[in-house]
Amino acid sequence: MPELTDISVIRALCEKYDFSLSKGFGQNFIINPGIPTKIVDASGVDKRYGVIEIGPGIGVLTKELAKRAGKVVSIEVDERLPPLLAETMAGVDNFKLVLQDVLKVDLHALIQQEFPGMPVAVCANLPYYITSPIVMKLLSERLPVESLTVMVQKEAADRLAAVPGTRASSAISCAVNYYSTSRLMFTAAPGSFYPAPKVTSAVVRMDIRPSPAVQVEDEEGYFALIRAAFGQRRKTAANAIAGGLGLSKDTVIAAIQQAGFDPRVRPEALTLEDFAAIQTALKG
Ligand code: SAM
Repeated sequence: MPELTDISVIRALCEKYDFSLSKGFGQNFIINPGIPTKIVDASGVDKRYGVIEIGPGIGVLTKELAKRAGKVVSIEVDERLPPLLAETMAGVDNFKLVLQDVLKVDLHALIQQEFPGMPVAVCANLPYYITSPIVMKLLSERLPVESLTVMVQKEAADRLAAVPGTRASSAISCAVNYYSTSRLMFTAAPGSFYPAPKVTSAVVRMDIRPSPAVQVEDEEGYFALIRAAFGQRRKTAANAIAGGLGLSKDTVIAAIQQAGFDPRVRPEALTLEDFAAIQTALKG
């Protein structure tokens, strides 16, 4: 099979199968031949691993994963892609395609069925339009996976890699840090993809923690509090939490002070432990 990173090969495949890339499905295929190896290197998987890939496209990353991992299960939503993948992945016997929207897949069942006894990792060049819902599903379902290594827009990568309590943090940074330790691995210029997106991309690796970074009694309430705190840009945490949770400002300010913070504190300045303390104070 000729190189799938070669634009003329991609065009020929598209023509043969009457396939046109879909913006709606976030289809920007990797054409920089160094990138699939770099993503798999970043994921650290080897022959012991079962890998879940989200969005194989025509299989450029899938092929590298299948070469280096024990087994690869790729989840793809675009019903037009299986015939192309049948050609590009022909003869690769440790690869399986699941044709479904990843947000609707029962990943616990998939892992149990496809990877018994294997360590599991997720590795993907994600469709950028649903980065957050996919990452949140992968983290919050507490899947038995070791790590998530994902290519996303650089701006999203910065949020996924940001440490709570620092300027770049946001609600998703808090969620990522609650479930995992994350780091930005490398960036990729727009010209590394076909068609070229408008922005730079980056790969983030999230290593799942054995247990969450902080112990909270009411996890749902904890994340509702964090989402509310970050829900209104440029507001103090107190104003945003009061607005977002429908509480009086006085109640929230009292809780923030009781937890030991200035009432004008900004949400970016709060760590996971700080949010837990505010939640406890609010309950009290
Ligand atoms: N892995 C290929 C590559 O790196 O060249 C393609 C990556 S492309 C950025 C994103 C892929 O995700 C596309 O194949 C797209 O069809 C697929 N996709 C989009 N939405 C999806 C969803 N909800 N569930 C599963 N796959 C999806």
